[in-house]
Amino acid sequence: MTTQKGSEHFDTEEKNDVLASTQTIIREALDKLGYSEDVYELLKEPLRMITVKIPVRMDNGTTKVFTGYRAQHNDAVGPTKGGIRFHPNVTEREVKALSIWMSLKCGIVDLPYGGGKGGIVCDPRTMSFRELEALSRGYVRAISQLVGPTKDIPAPDVFTNSQIMAWMMDEYSRIDEFNSPGFITGKPLVLGGSHGRDSATAKGVTICIREAAKKQGFHLEGARVVVQGFGNAGGFLSKFMHDAGAKVIGISDAYGALYDPDGLDIDYLLDKRDSFGTVTNLFKNTISNQELLELDCDILIPAAIENQITEENAHRIKANIIVEAANGPTTLEATKILTERGKLIVPDVLASAGGVTVSYFEWVQNNQGYYWSEEEVEEKLEKIIVRAFNNVYNTAATRKINMRLAAYMVGVRKLAEACRFRGWV
Ligand code: GLU
Repeated sequence: MTTQKGSEHFDTEEKNDVLASTQTIIREALDKLGYSEDVYELLKEPLRMITVKIPVRMDNGTTKVFTGYRAQHNDAVGPTKGGIRFHPNVTEREVKALSIWMSLKCGIVDLPYGGGKGGIVCDPRTMSFRELEALSRGYVRAISQLVGPTKDIPAPDVFTNSQIMAWMMDEYSRIDEFNSPGFITGKPLVLGGSHGRDSATAKGVTICIREAAKKQGFHLEGARVVVQGFGNAGGFLSKFMHDAGAKVIGISDAYGALYDPDGLDIDYLLDKRDSFGTVTNLFKNTISNQELLELDCDILIPAAIENQITEENAHRIKANIIVEAANGPTTLEATKILTERGKLIVPDVLASAGGVTVSYFEWVQNNQGYYWSEEEVEEKLEKIIVRAFNNVYNTAATRKINMRLAAYMVGVRKLAEACRFRGWV
């Protein structure tokens, strides 16, 4: 199918291409801020994109060669920062888009970083611990010359965790011949991790929901919430929503979803899920992920992967507020449809910025060698997210634009200014 948008043609697949979509909004945001075409040319792709091949000796004695990427979007503001994703659907274009989103997040919460992102095409669910360790170490050896505590600082993302960060930090420290905790964030506490990093993305989303509730005059207590995804962000979020008195009526994993109009037993489900957030395999009465998204609820929180709300299902979404804990869950067309239908979308680059914010705290603590209490972390995170939310919300209100475009404007401004001061544009 081909549709026309302005002077450009997109087929359906291209329209849901996350890189093309983010470029469209970046261009619109820069236009509104009065920046010229050269700035767009500079920011529309990462400054550096590394592709590596990682040979891993598998448990069965064969060697498998994995493909990995690291995108460094822009380092005008500071070193690049962003997670590493282990997933069978990782592509070069996706990693590029994810690195641009990291630049925007860092701009929105005002961190001294640009955006970066990594990905390895693999399915960790089918790999042994030993194979995963070899892959993690191999990836670090392959990219080691281009990353480091003052160059590019990785972190966890989809299907990576603190154990993988620990192996990567150890490998980098061996190459560097120094203990280098500041090379990577999301580490276990005993290796220089920060209090509150594991729950940080969900905390940030929760603060955004609370602030949105204040603005829109609704109560979280008793609100019906649906969470798509039961991994790190989705798991903690379900718990935080439940603890705040909301009724979590739907959750899902990669294979299906659970629904109970009276509210699910979140503590039980968290106890039963595996390390990849899978839990629906234990139940007979499941619904599909598509049915989950269309449930009658007040707040919908996509906390899984990209392109979940599209022009196909946007007309049927019943929630009034969509808060994006995942990166890129709503397509460009779907954003338009939902906005026209009067729905409030709190966009990914704002809602999920709590993760990188506490990663920044972790890096600061590593650099100082002085560690903060959980209360200090929470207090600082709270201040930053409340300020960022209000900044984006007010920009949207005064300019009469949706919160996604407003977030892009806030996020890209600092980056564009830094590039100008450096004389790059
Ligand atoms: N992967 C997370 C994100 O997409 C966190 C990145 C970080 O902590 O650097 O925001």
